[in-house]
Amino acid sequence: MKKIHMVDLQSQYQKIKETVDQSIQEVLNSSAYINGPQVKEFQAGLESYLDVKHVIPCANGTDALQIAMMGLGLQPGDEVITADFTFAATVEVIALLQLTPVLVDVEANTFNIDIDALKKAITPKTKAIVPVHLFGQVANMDAIMEIAKEHNLFVIEDNAQAIGANYTSKDGTKKKAGTIGNVGTTSFFPSKNLGCYGDGGAIFTNDDDLAHTIRGIVNHGMYKRYYHDVVGVNSRLDSMQAAVLKIKLPLLDSYCNARRNAAKFYNKAFSNNANIITPTTSSCNQVCEHCDCHVFHQYTLQITNGKRDELHQHLLDNGIANAIYYPVPLHKQKAYVDIRYKEEDFKVTNQLIDTVISLPMHTELDEEQLVFITKTINDFLK
Ligand SMILES: *Cc1c(COP(=O)(O)O)cnc(C)c1O
Repeated sequence: MKKIHMVDLQSQYQKIKETVDQSIQEVLNSSAYINGPQVKEFQAGLESYLDVKHVIPCANGTDALQIAMMGLGLQPGDEVITADFTFAATVEVIALLQLTPVLVDVEANTFNIDIDALKKAITPKTKAIVPVHLFGQVANMDAIMEIAKEHNLFVIEDNAQAIGANYTSKDGTKKKAGTIGNVGTTSFFPSKNLGCYGDGGAIFTNDDDLAHTIRGIVNHGMYKRYYHDVVGVNSRLDSMQAAVLKIKLPLLDSYCNARRNAAKFYNKAFSNNANIITPTTSSCNQVCEHCDCHVFHQYTLQITNGKRDELHQHLLDNGIANAIYYPVPLHKQKAYVDIRYKEEDFKVTNQLIDTVISLPMHTELDEEQLVFITKTINDFLK
């Protein structure tokens, strides 16, 4: 069997090559490389897809988080609570803006921010919560929004891994991930669920004033040309990337479904293996036919018999790519250590780093590959 990769961007591209190439050619023909019509078109398309009033495209998902925090007017010393188990970008921008990151533990079953830990971390200095919809699954937004309301906190959803996921509230209302809090951010990094062919990102909000503020910030703090009212940044989605994204956006739901189908196959294949915990989806506790709260940016197992590292190597030896997301919790990263953190407050992340393993997950996985991957794992972890 040919080597199986974590993602297969080439096969996906081959299926849409003609339309993508033509879309990129249009940018080349017009030479409108910055703020070309493709950017507006994609922005409008995404607003409609997400059912959100404002999408502000920007250069990448890390910028999106930073700009969202700048837009909310967070000030040095303000405390911002986020999950200990996430990609570093989330905490990086908090620190960069001289805000105080407050990392908290996650839930063992969903990998998302733990609600009790979040409540415990709130102080009079807390100004915002950044839930990360990790691996494609929406965090417990009902609880988070309730806490935010009670303590008057902003909610910034880091939606880099869950674009396209739906969240159904207790009252039955359904919203797209990233449109529930004050502001949501995403990344169009090539391997993300909606990826471009370079860097890209976006910020979304239903708040007109915040959208206005953010549109100025992404453009050097300008609200009128050459008048700089606030300190801004230069963060743009270029026309080439928008030209790719506008072709891929209508395919996002089918891409999410392809990922869910692969997840379903994995779940079923591992269901009788006592050494494996398959991912839980919070609303239905299984990958069911109609579940749409999880878009499986990653498919992540927990290996309970202590053989995670051996499995990692065994899969590599068999040509099956796999990854440890994430090998070190943020509170143990040199850049983010803080004397206030106590190890007993991070029981779950400290355990996850030794047990998690992410398997190949993308839109082009076929049955032959899935059979080979699951058989190799089940044979090894008998
Ligand atoms: C990818 C990612 C980011 C950063 O996105 P970039 O476009 O690479 O800057 C932020 N947060 C999370 C959770 C991510 O997975």
